Amino acid sequence: MFCTFAGMLKDIRQVDVTEITSFVKAQGEKPFRGRQIMEWLWKNGVTDFDRMSNLPARLRESLKEHFTLSGLLIKTEQISKDKTRKFGFRCPDGLIVEGVQIPSQGRVTACLSSQVGCPLNCSFCATASLKSRRNLSAGEIFDQVILLQDASQEAYGTHLSNHVFMGMGEPLLNYDSVTGAISHMTSEKGLGISPRRITLSTAGLTKGITRLAREKVKFNLAISLHTANDLKRSSLMPVNKSNPLPELAESLKLFYQETGTRISYEYLLMKDFNDSLRDARELAAFCKITPCKINLIEYNEVEGSIHHKTTPEKMQAFVDFLESLNMIVNIRRSRGQDIDAACGQLACKSG
Ligand code: SF4
Repeated sequence: MFCTFAGMLKDIRQVDVTEITSFVKAQGEKPFRGRQIMEWLWKNGVTDFDRMSNLPARLRESLKEHFTLSGLLIKTEQISKDKTRKFGFRCPDGLIVEGVQIPSQGRVTACLSSQVGCPLNCSFCATASLKSRRNLSAGEIFDQVILLQDASQEAYGTHLSNHVFMGMGEPLLNYDSVTGAISHMTSEKGLGISPRRITLSTAGLTKGITRLAREKVKFNLAISLHTANDLKRSSLMPVNKSNPLPELAESLKLFYQETGTRISYEYLLMKDFNDSLRDARELAAFCKITPCKINLIEYNEVEGSIHHKTTPEKMQAFVDFLESLNMIVNIRRSRGQDIDAACGQLACKSG
């Protein structure tokens, strides 16, 4: 019952409270031990059975005999001139993913990865140059939060304020693990983080957005848009060919209708590609489908990319145009560029 198949123990973080409770009962223990185990896993984030100090030693031994429990470890750490910190996390199977911690004005944002590599091949993104290896488990995603949380306390003496799924990978290709991790992050029995402090950023997979809408999720949704022109977007992000803008618009309308949450759009401004007033006009026309805000991001040069950063003048003209239409626009300056930790730069160069 507790083994997946011959010789292979089940990862205890893939097991729900009902199954753990029936396991502890089968060991002759009281059912409340199941709740204690869940708390060790998802409230305290331990990745070692021996640290479950309020369990009887014999139950800890039974757990070791029937389940595996292992987590991410910090392998590398780099600190940028602007205090952004990038971590290389080693998974139990030796693969590396990256996470970033961005301090700003008394707040610390954690940028989380959802996959090892990414299959979507966006032309502006360094992660796309890595081999797409596998999805992270909910436990591995959760580990990033715990490790970045501890590192934030240590470095800045403060908790993480925001969590964004903007690291390596497309979160909606790993739907169950990402939403599973978020549910442990937000649950009162887990970390108790407000869903308003969590943002899932997607390249625009319409089926996944529709599923989020139907499930009425409470966290924020950001779309990595970068142009509101179908032809240009398909050249930049191949995923647009199977998820064209009209279909994306329909899924976003549904998301807003079901959740009432304002959509965020991420828009990397690239010189002579998507920085003209015509591009701004197309963007405004697309974004008006629901209440939204637009985050304009400085493009970071990525090795081998044909794109370049726009000029400050063009960026200002772009902003002025959108603001003249009463749109909410934020400019995101790049952080951690010198350590390849900025948006679109994660490519495991640290280790
Ligand atoms: S931008 Fe995001 S979806 Fe596109 S290749 Fe990079 S990690 Fe994948």
